Amino acid sequence: MKDDPDSDDRTAPAAPPIEALFPAARDNLRAACERLKIHPDVFEELKDPRETLSASLLIRMDDGSRRSFPAWRCRYNDRRGPTKGGVRFHPGVCLDEIQTLAFWMTFKCAVADLPFGGGKGGVCVDTKALSKGELERLSRAYVEAFSSFIGTDRDIMAPDMYTNGIVIAWMADEYSSITGRPSPTAITGKPLAFGGTVGRTDATARGGYYALRHLEPALAIDPDKSTVIVQGFGNVGYHCAKLLHADGYRIVGVSDSCGGIYDPAGIDPLAAMEHKHINGTVLGAKGHGKTREMSNAELLEQPCEVLVPAALERQITAQNCDRIAARIILELANGPVAPEADAALTAKGILILPDILANAGGVAVSHLEWVQNRSGFYWDSSQVRDHLKTKMETETQAIWSLRTQMEVSMREAAYIHGLKRIAESIEARGTEAFFANGGRL
Ligand code: NAD
Repeated sequence: MKDDPDSDDRTAPAAPPIEALFPAARDNLRAACERLKIHPDVFEELKDPRETLSASLLIRMDDGSRRSFPAWRCRYNDRRGPTKGGVRFHPGVCLDEIQTLAFWMTFKCAVADLPFGGGKGGVCVDTKALSKGELERLSRAYVEAFSSFIGTDRDIMAPDMYTNGIVIAWMADEYSSITGRPSPTAITGKPLAFGGTVGRTDATARGGYYALRHLEPALAIDPDKSTVIVQGFGNVGYHCAKLLHADGYRIVGVSDSCGGIYDPAGIDPLAAMEHKHINGTVLGAKGHGKTREMSNAELLEQPCEVLVPAALERQITAQNCDRIAARIILELANGPVAPEADAALTAKGILILPDILANAGGVAVSHLEWVQNRSGFYWDSSQVRDHLKTKMETETQAIWSLRTQMEVSMREAAYIHGLKRIAESIEARGTEAFFANGGRL
């Protein structure tokens, strides 16, 4: 936001590459279907989104002019429950990205065993070029445009990149005005005072942290001897750095859309965030030793034990994967590793904890918010954390075991794990054998 001193960094982030994401997502689906020898009906149903709505959001700017912003909402698949997914405000948002993110949400919700299908929404906009008033009008216009598409039992929205608590509060408020009653369950990630849950702010990072911590013995990780680089020092990246730092990991690099800082002697994430609040970027923040500034691309290639991409899709591609010097990649962003890089990194022995597992903590706690809103009974933070920890450990262990049994990568194992659950819900409505047999069981 242009007049908000506490807002994120000043310059507009680079738009993601225009190369389509969806064909690769469909390849992952096809591979998992083949591996499981699943009925072709399942692939047929999952290969395309169920429905996508597009709209132009026309808002009044502060100078009196009107501007229109392209927007989308996709409900990818709802066999396991109402669709669920965030709303992204970013200049790189396009239909391909939204449909792919909705596809990933479908698998993520299944991996986390939540009673949700997958959805996603977004607006192609650079929020840093808007005033607070313009951002509020845009957020409300989004809900107005999609109000008949979303809803408690149909499609539940949540935050994503550049949609923070206040944006979500405006959206929830707008939806309640349209429905004529308080309707907190159609949108999660709300501020606490507006029916949010404790533990949502750091839930995505915490979920990834629990997954990594669960695998520390299997991966022979000693936190006190391990270094970490975080790309994308926003909500998810910051909280991840903070949690790992508190456990003894040394944070040696962090970045945002303006660039990165690297310091082998270590960086205190709290101090780096304080600097970012004041200056709008991590650039200029100091670590404990000789801190160097570098580009995002360079930072990704510095040696570390754990690399945490927590910004955008396709940050590690065929172009730079040879130079990645991490032992483990914890994918807190969605789709940060391109498919061609995925295979090369796995062949090199780098272990990737895939996005549909690693960042599932956010939607898992969003589910708890939805449950609490529906029951009117609110949990304390230890209940929320215990539930998240158990869920992340259970699903991480299941995927780790599948990886070993089937001799596949963690990503393939995660897709197989999620697909089994989605396929069961599709088959529960009747299989080909059932119908070919005259409807007898
Ligand atoms: P955010 O807006 O809070 O932070 C994003 C950060 O990334 C900002 O610091 C921004 O400066 C930085 N950034 C933008 N472009 C960059 C670039 N090219 N290189 C490096 N940094 C860049 O967003 P967030 O909520 O932290 O989301 C981050 C990622 O995590 C996204 O991929 C999102 O889809 C994913 N994710 C978020 C949640 C959630 O609960 N927020 C849940 C699941 C997945």
